Amino acid sequence: MADLTTDVRYIKGIGEKKAQALNKLGVFTLYDLVSYFPRKYEDRSQYKPIALAADGETVCIQAMVADTPRLTRIRRGLDLVKLRIVDDSGVADVTYFNQPYTKDNLHRGETYVFFGKIEVKGTRRSMTNPVYEKEGTENGVTGRIVPIYRLSAGLNQRLLLQAVRQGLNTCGDQLPELLPETVRERCHLVQARYAYENIHFPVDFGALELARRRLIFEELFVLACALGKMRGTRVRENGIPLRDTDLNDFWRSLPFAPTGAQQRAVEQALADMSSGAVMNRLVQGDVGSGKTLVAAALIWAAWKNGLSSAFMAPTEILAEQHYTTLREMLSPFGLRVGKLTGSMTAKEKREAKAALREGAIDLVIGTHALFSDDVEYASLGLVVTDEQHRFGVEQRSALIGKGGKPHVLVMSATPIPRTLALIIYGDLDVSIIDELPPGRQKVDTFTVDESYRDRLNGFIRKLCAEGRQVFVVCPMVDENEDLPMPLRSAEEHARDLASTFPELRIACVHGKMKARDKDAVMAAFLAGETDVLVSTTVIEVGVDVPNAALMIVENAERFGLSQLHQLRGRVGRGAHKSYCILVSDADNEDVRARLRIMCQTNDGFKISEEDLRLRGPGDFFGSRQHGLPETHIADLGADTEILQRAQQEANALLASDPDLASPENTQLRDRVEQLFRRRTDSFN
Ligand code: ADP
Ligand code: MG
Repeated sequence: MADLTTDVRYIKGIGEKKAQALNKLGVFTLYDLVSYFPRKYEDRSQYKPIALAADGETVCIQAMVADTPRLTRIRRGLDLVKLRIVDDSGVADVTYFNQPYTKDNLHRGETYVFFGKIEVKGTRRSMTNPVYEKEGTENGVTGRIVPIYRLSAGLNQRLLLQAVRQGLNTCGDQLPELLPETVRERCHLVQARYAYENIHFPVDFGALELARRRLIFEELFVLACALGKMRGTRVRENGIPLRDTDLNDFWRSLPFAPTGAQQRAVEQALADMSSGAVMNRLVQGDVGSGKTLVAAALIWAAWKNGLSSAFMAPTEILAEQHYTTLREMLSPFGLRVGKLTGSMTAKEKREAKAALREGAIDLVIGTHALFSDDVEYASLGLVVTDEQHRFGVEQRSALIGKGGKPHVLVMSATPIPRTLALIIYGDLDVSIIDELPPGRQKVDTFTVDESYRDRLNGFIRKLCAEGRQVFVVCPMVDENEDLPMPLRSAEEHARDLASTFPELRIACVHGKMKARDKDAVMAAFLAGETDVLVSTTVIEVGVDVPNAALMIVENAERFGLSQLHQLRGRVGRGAHKSYCILVSDADNEDVRARLRIMCQTNDGFKISEEDLRLRGPGDFFGSRQHGLPETHIADLGADTEILQRAQQEANALLASDPDLASPENTQLRDRVEQLFRRRTDSFN
């Protein structure tokens, strides 16, 4: 007796070769087979009498073959089979191109269902290459909504459809019901058996929708249970509560008033930090929304309560910049600000570490070096990490484990679609800064191609003459890459610019330079000592140069949307009207679509949603570092409402049965364990 674990070879018509083709699609067992959901559907459910079918309409026609099909060879490589079909209402001519066998398959006097597009010319009606089958064919492909599957070489739609049909007939009754009855009822979800049946062979579009909804829910519910279960062991730990949370002195010291959103984020974080539990909060805000200030306020609060803070930046350049900004903001209060980065000399590092150990530093800013094994902290109360998505989950937990149980504030400049945030940061509380500081102007964005080069150069000249500065970003070039078109490497491009603009001061910074040299170049640009800074994406995150008014991105097609948005966020930070120019010669429609979005909106959340939609969640963070399994039917970018519901239900279930140990949850538990069997080490 076959069951869900039986090999697909069990299916009639699936031999060794076809089985291998199915394996390529990830289908090994009967369970895999029935879980191989259609990519789309074709509505072949509408029948029409010949005479009533309108020109261009795609319908099923039930008709009799009126004459013997004639095969004509027009020339080598072009065969025609022609025949005439009739029903009670009229006549149509049918032509098959290069399907000579239809001559023998279609018999005069017999009735078939033809599915295809009707053409009407005057009183003549015709169909070209319609799908046909005998009326009443079992598991047929006409007269209903037909599933269309993604195929691999050696498979065809009919074969797959029939295999799935057999699979469902064989073990449809054994399909596990992963959803608890109560959940299913509360959320109005159909049963597993019905869902599997109708996702493949929907009786109508209503049934298809019910099936889809149920299966999407199931997938997200299992995912949410899996993530929740992993997190479950990490109970809310006790943190050091802040007693004094009066920030008035700090706010008063600022040259500007905080925005409402900044204030809200600070208040939420302070509530966490004074609650007695340890804070785990994500602050999400678009580039330029002023996240640094939120961090500064909390660092100040920690200091007032006798606690020190560590601030981790993803790059040396950023660490340097945060060091400068935060020191300026905080040291007037007597807060002792230090730094610890990889590029410091051994002696400097030794001194910094000693100071940290002795509690002689209230705020240390640095890169990963902050969390190397030999760093000890005297009274670490708060850890801030900037630009979270660069770190990955492992690093986050490594730093949380450092000395005692500090409060953790994670800042992300990548606005993450809410769906993904829920899943990835499900263990963090989230504050959203959805308001930019006042007076911020929209950055005008344009896409141009190489033919605009002269005008672009003219624009650089004009802005620099007005005293502004310019960023030029070139994609990272890997020498081993086989490239279709000339790519501008940063160094090469900087040389070109230097000869085009002998009057301008041009500098270049790229990933292969020593940290020390990079810093020097950046510092000079910040100080206004250079006009044009050519770089690779090392400047992507965080750097703040208010005088920069133009961002040029070369080979813009090589960048993802969110990345482009980050880059654009480098300008428009001061009082000057700013521009972003995306240079690309690519004529690929996807690329054009991406660049168009950039020109249309400055809204980071919208852009990240588009990015997610265009690239898919797997690609979203680059190297799949978030460790999420691929979804089969749920669209993490779109199915937000179902996800929220599934997450709620999963949380409720885990609250009552944390290990999914009760008998009615056994199948769910098995599935949850399966989901992460190979991933437990990559995800935490
Ligand atoms: P991001 O969220 O991208 O890290 P930053 O913290 O670097 O943004 O802030 C961007 C700029 O906005 C900085 O120059 C900062 O001084 C300024 N800024 C932050 N908050 C305010 C505010 N409330 N009013 C005016 N300017 C602000
Ligand atoms: Mg920042």
